[in-house]
Amino acid sequence: LADGPGERSETGVPPDEVRGRVALRFGARSLTYGGLAGAAGALAGRLAGAGRVAVWATPELETAVAVTGVLLAGAAAVPLNPKSGEKELAHIVSDSAPTLVLAAPGAELPDALGALERLDVDADARAAVPEQTAGDAAPALIVYTSGTTGPPKGAVLPRRALATTLDALADAWQWTAADVLVHGLPLFHVHGLVLGTLGPLRRGGGVRHLGRFSTEGVARELTAGATMLFGVPTMYHRIAEALPDDPELAEALGRARLLVSGSAALPVHDHERIAAATGRRVIERYGMTETLMNTSVRADGEARAGTVGVPLPGVELRLVEEDGTPITAYDGESVGEIQVRGANLFTEYLNRPEATAAAFTADGFFRTGDMAVREPDGYVRIVGRKATDLIKSGGYKIGAGEIENALLEHPGVREAAVTGEPDADLGERIVAWIVPADPQAPPAAPELADHVARRLAPHKRPRVVRYLDALPRNDMGKIMKRALADV
Ligand code: ATP
Ligand code: MG
Repeated sequence: LADGPGERSETGVPPDEVRGRVALRFGARSLTYGGLAGAAGALAGRLAGAGRVAVWATPELETAVAVTGVLLAGAAAVPLNPKSGEKELAHIVSDSAPTLVLAAPGAELPDALGALERLDVDADARAAVPEQTAGDAAPALIVYTSGTTGPPKGAVLPRRALATTLDALADAWQWTAADVLVHGLPLFHVHGLVLGTLGPLRRGGGVRHLGRFSTEGVARELTAGATMLFGVPTMYHRIAEALPDDPELAEALGRARLLVSGSAALPVHDHERIAAATGRRVIERYGMTETLMNTSVRADGEARAGTVGVPLPGVELRLVEEDGTPITAYDGESVGEIQVRGANLFTEYLNRPEATAAAFTADGFFRTGDMAVREPDGYVRIVGRKATDLIKSGGYKIGAGEIENALLEHPGVREAAVTGEPDADLGERIVAWIVPADPQAPPAAPELADHVARRLAPHKRPRVVRYLDALPRNDMGKIMKRALADV
């Protein structure tokens, strides 16, 4: 990023050769490194002094050119989710006050963006990359959080956070110029944009975007030579479901160098089914909009189901008890809030000084709101979010995740979410929300309660079971537990 695409020396490939390599392919359209530098350079030339620039982040080549161009111009990109409602878009636009909006030619923009000047991105334009003047601390991206726990907040990510996270992952996952990523994620969150789009370019590799995720697309690209897949758990769930009937998919995944999951917990059941069918273990990584990537496993390390690995180099991570005491012994049992510090962090929530102040400790750690334990060898096992996944019942603190994992092992359960509900006796009672595998014959509540009690402990059995046709999920496939109360 700092040196412009295709100009980095760490790729080990001479600059001339880099320019001719395919950097990005979206469907039938692609750009070489030289083409990307030219198109992004031309755009950057038009963005001098632009400040904040909104990007209409459709899953197209132009979005990648737009963000690269904004970064080359030293401006900050505000990626917009094209599926957002008018109200959310209006909030983001008034909150971030961009000077203009970049879009692919022909993209239809909603009324909420009507007042913004529009600039069409020309992926065929070619111009030299302008001289770089923005410093490490300058904002590179303003990314709105997923809104899983409240209204989305604009996290201001400085240029150093992007560089730090991508270099840490490039080292841990041993990216080279020979790596090609299969990409099926949206481009308006850090997962699909920073990791998925900018990530492989850091070491001269390539990106093949599917437009829309499909197991067929994954099999096709991996068979054609792609080496990595980054996905969210709903994608790996679809893969796990498809594998028994799809030997080609199993073979293609078995050939991949790196299968990575993030953005939410990968159910152990899916992890194990994929491992059994392909011989490959999915590596989990833990990150968030505010911190980019915190933990993972090295490409040559042990991917352990139900854990997110260990802190990446440069990331300080601690678990802190409710009274503020850091947990010092890793015993696999003591639950604390994950707090992180490092150059990977955001600087502030835009226009929210109180929220920013509340998010950091006096010694500069970010309070993630995620609860975890660490195993004796340091692996982090996420228990869940403090706000929605920690149930206080009968004097116990119970994580929703392990109950969800146990429920998903029941053959009659397709999807499961666990929440707590006020209870006069217990403080909170455990509620299981189930999407049955067969809606005509859903597993009975006592059977599910016994199933959980046998696997975990009697006090972890659900007291109430509710049946749904589908769980409320956002566009990253995350379960919106806030919405469960209103279904
Ligand atoms: P909001 O902050 O607006 O409520 P959000 O937290 O879902 O939304 P993101 O920043 O996109 O927005 O998501 C980060 C969160 O996703 C983390 O704090 C964590 O709770 C969850 N997460 C990410 N990766 C993992 C993982 N591998 N396992 C479990 N949870 C994960
Ligand atoms: Mg969050």
